[in-house]
Amino acid sequence: MVSILQIVVTTAVLLAAAVVCLRRGRRDGGAWIAFGVGIVLWTLGELTRAVFYPVSRPQPSVVDALYLGFYPAAAVGLVLMTRSRLRHLTRTLVLDGATALVTVAGLGVAFVIPAVIGSVDGQTRDAALVNLAYPLADTVLLAFLVTAIAVTGWQRLERIAGALALYAAADVAYVLLLPRYGQTIMWVGAFWVLGILLLASGARQTTRGSAPMRADWTMFLVPLIAAPVNLGVLLAPLPLAPSAFAAVGILLGMVRTGVTFRHTLTLLETRRQAITDELTGLANRRRFNRHLARAFETGEPVGLLAIDLDRFKALNDGLGHHVGDRLLIDFAERMVDALPEALLIARIGGDEFAVLTHGDRLAQASAQIDAALVRPFELDGLELHIRASMGGALAPEHASTPAELLQRADIAMYAAKRASGGFQLYRPGGAEPSRDQLALGEDLRRGIAAGELEVFYQPQADIRQRRIVGVEALVRWRHPTRGLLFPDAFLTLAEDLGLMRELTRHVLHTAVRQAAVWDVSVAVNLSLTDLLDPDLPTAVRAALDEAGLPAHRLVLEITENVAMADPERILAILGRLRALGCQLALDDFGTGLSSLARLRRLPVQELKIDRSFVMELDVAIVRLTIELGHALGIRVVAEGVETQEALELLEELGCDVAQGYHFSRPVAAAELGGLLAVGVADLALPSR
Ligand code: C2E
Ligand code: CA
Ligand code: CA
Repeated sequence: MVSILQIVVTTAVLLAAAVVCLRRGRRDGGAWIAFGVGIVLWTLGELTRAVFYPVSRPQPSVVDALYLGFYPAAAVGLVLMTRSRLRHLTRTLVLDGATALVTVAGLGVAFVIPAVIGSVDGQTRDAALVNLAYPLADTVLLAFLVTAIAVTGWQRLERIAGALALYAAADVAYVLLLPRYGQTIMWVGAFWVLGILLLASGARQTTRGSAPMRADWTMFLVPLIAAPVNLGVLLAPLPLAPSAFAAVGILLGMVRTGVTFRHTLTLLETRRQAITDELTGLANRRRFNRHLARAFETGEPVGLLAIDLDRFKALNDGLGHHVGDRLLIDFAERMVDALPEALLIARIGGDEFAVLTHGDRLAQASAQIDAALVRPFELDGLELHIRASMGGALAPEHASTPAELLQRADIAMYAAKRASGGFQLYRPGGAEPSRDQLALGEDLRRGIAAGELEVFYQPQADIRQRRIVGVEALVRWRHPTRGLLFPDAFLTLAEDLGLMRELTRHVLHTAVRQAAVWDVSVAVNLSLTDLLDPDLPTAVRAALDEAGLPAHRLVLEITENVAMADPERILAILGRLRALGCQLALDDFGTGLSSLARLRRLPVQELKIDRSFVMELDVAIVRLTIELGHALGIRVVAEGVETQEALELLEELGCDVAQGYHFSRPVAAAELGGLLAVGVADLALPSR
């Protein structure tokens, strides 16, 4: 006999569980409402049974309808929960879910249902059917559960899974034990209640959020388990229905494998593209840098060959991009054919290539490339002979970092270009450094760090306004034992030792700070190394900001030959410097090899006539340069103005600015301060 008290307590507990779920559902949406509804239906079934059929109930009855209502509600809850946890449903996940569903359903059809059917004898047909509906519904529900786990992982599904498993176990036990023991097995009912309470306790877990996409071996858990299970079911002597499920499961697994395979291929292709140069199929800069870094890590000798095609720019401009592209592709192919397979060949820029060799095989590699260029290229119906400039550098001899090695090879390559093609090994300063120079080099490294470099300033006078408008910063080294050293004594050395970057930054910062105090513009000299340094614009910007000097008051001087070394690359960096608002000056003008056409492309605001022409009073050249500058709208500065005579001539020819010993030698900052106060231009120019 079931006491009234028992009924009331059970109903109250179950309804409380339903309320917990429904409240959670109000906050977090669908899934928990469905679970709550399922619990309410089940509770109503239980209540109806206890009140109206306390001893035994006819089957089927309204009680069964209410009990069975739990399953679809719980299934809907699982589906909604799975959906809400995923940011997006991928094809793989859907396939995994479907595979799990089909596999579990197949297992249910194969084993659970026959077992139940075997135990239903002695019941009416209708009762048997109704009792069969329970394990069938369980099978489907478990399939949904496995699917949910397959798709979102175990995370936070443990309680729901436990609850549903408990519930299903109670169902099966009930159906199996009922015919043998009759209604005495009512204690099984306690497991249903426990299952429902466990489910409701899941609603009290607060964590939520989308499940992270799994990216480990568990991604393959479903196909890994489903495949052997389905294969077993298919091969076992079972009726048609489970075999059909198993077959579908295997089919889904195959589709899943196909999808994953295509996915992996795409991934590999993406990765390949990321390290390959699209045009030539060679390694790209990223891959090259990675290999270079790795080579350095091994500590073994590394050789780097930087290669640049001569006349490429002209060809590309003149014949069109498709021809330029064709040339790059053909050249890449020839290199691949000519060089040993073990060498890494990369395209690291427009027409810049690089080869990484082991140890000292540079000369050999460059000879092989040279040989590959003997045969002319056939481009656009033309037969063209193309040459390459190649520069080589070695580590550890020339460089201690990958970046340094690249830069050294670049410098050697430019040296080769100046010598009109061929191969050059990094050998700055021409001759091998002497012992004395080596010692001085070490000294310089120390001296820069110790702050022994000083910046001297030479005034620049505006000829018409008759006043000092600017200064040029010129570096000096106050050596502790050798006295004041001039740039000729140590600049090449600084270049060779890779100290130029530091030197330039020191001069830049000092000069810019000084100019801000004096209220004049300041000119700073840049070397080729500086212009190959992609960080230069950032350093300039930082120096200006730090000193608070307006950018237009900084003039950056480059020589003609530097500007012509690699027009494209240098133009790019000059563009960036211009964009900062700095002015650019072409130094030592007239001594270089630049063509007028090229000059026009340089974004310079100032031409500095080389001091040799001014000192020799070479009127023809000086006049031409001034006219040229003015025709291009560029300010002209004359250097090496040593005499009153030179100054008067320059004024007559319309030169804008004069700089030279006539006004002042380069002097220390303190001394120049005095000159500025007196107004040197007034002293030196005849008053009008
Ligand atoms: P530059 O840029 O052509 O600098 C002008 C040079 O001419 C200076 O020599 C200056 O002292 C000298 N000079 C000025 N007026 C006269 C004159 O009336 N007559 C004669 N005969 N010479 C005059 P300095 O200071 O020895 O510098 C030599 C070169 O060193 C500079 O030539 C420049 O190319 C380089 N240099 C100097 N400082 C730096 C620096 O901070 N960075 C870089 N990259 N190069 C620098
Ligand atoms: Ca200069
Ligand atoms: Ca000069």
